[in-house]
Amino acid sequence: MKFIDEYRDSRLIRSLLDQIKKEASAKESYRLMEFCGGHTHAFYRYGLIPLLPESIEMVHGPGCPVCVLPISRIDAAVALASKEGVIFCSYGDMLRVPGSDGKSLLKAKAEGADVRMIYSPLDAVKLAVQNPDSQVVFFAVGFETTAPATALALKQAEQQGIGNFFVFCNHVLTPPAMKAILDYEGGETSVIDGIVGPGHVSAIIGCSAYAFVAEDNRIPLVISGFEPVDLLESILLLVRQINAGRAEIENQYARVVKTEGNREAICLMDEVFELRGSFEWRGFGMLANSAQKIASTYAAFDAELQFQVRYAEASDHRACRCADVLRGLIQPEACSVFGAVCNPENPLGACMVSSEGACAAAYSYGGMLRNDQPEAGQ
Ligand code: SF4
Repeated sequence: MKFIDEYRDSRLIRSLLDQIKKEASAKESYRLMEFCGGHTHAFYRYGLIPLLPESIEMVHGPGCPVCVLPISRIDAAVALASKEGVIFCSYGDMLRVPGSDGKSLLKAKAEGADVRMIYSPLDAVKLAVQNPDSQVVFFAVGFETTAPATALALKQAEQQGIGNFFVFCNHVLTPPAMKAILDYEGGETSVIDGIVGPGHVSAIIGCSAYAFVAEDNRIPLVISGFEPVDLLESILLLVRQINAGRAEIENQYARVVKTEGNREAICLMDEVFELRGSFEWRGFGMLANSAQKIASTYAAFDAELQFQVRYAEASDHRACRCADVLRGLIQPEACSVFGAVCNPENPLGACMVSSEGACAAAYSYGGMLRNDQPEAGQ
């Protein structure tokens, strides 16, 4: 199959691994972060991590939108969903994320809330048309990849004059979170030597959005595809940059990612969203200019305004180390409740729920922690 078979070619994979082994011996260690949760799952799914030389340590990043949403926002979603007359629509992953006291949207549904799983924001617009006596709220969560679809739904609702469709907007932005990781001075973790840059997000925002990574932080970044050959080639490109003392933005995923990104999607988002002054991320706290809110011209569709959503402080389960996993401070298996107490059947934290969460990936594919690296960065 075009764009699949050639990127899973075993001979090519073996030759890339040989080349990585040869070139990744120049330094004692290469600490590389894959920012995107899709990449984390691909690394585990294809069993690539144990095949890498010991000098390369892969650290998982915060690129899972379900995982980075703080509990206060899950609680707000549960409260909204429980309102009389509301049909609350969400992607499947969000239904199972535990809020305060373990209460999820799925539990709210069991208690009588009208919570529905949808596959696209346009499904929510359709539901609003079909249920004129209800208020249909779409729980919009995701990075720049999914935000254009939300923007399109808002535009459609506005054009059709649909008055009972609302969006609870929680779209977050990739570059500020990357910056927070690179500027982190907590002292708990060693410096990241290179970043495997997100593929889908970059298809929207393009390559120049990461210029600060190379220019200010002097860290190489390679935007990568999701197949084994993509990932290994990206690692090789990072190793080469590190060995040569270069810090550049390279695009391994050029078959999908254009330098300028997707102008149409960017224009649509600019019309419908505004930048938030700050937004809370799980594991990071408040990050400036790191999320989108609905523009004032679309205020009639803004669930936060129309339902006067309030946020109360809430913290993760005391045993849960999602915050450390998301900041790349520990590997999932280093959390004391990983597997036994916290697993996909009974998730204690968001990283075990999402199809892009690092803990779910480590659990689903058997855990790949090597004996010599009980905690990343130690
Ligand atoms: S294993 Fe569970 S509790 Fe531990 S960090 Fe991961 S999601 Fe949180």
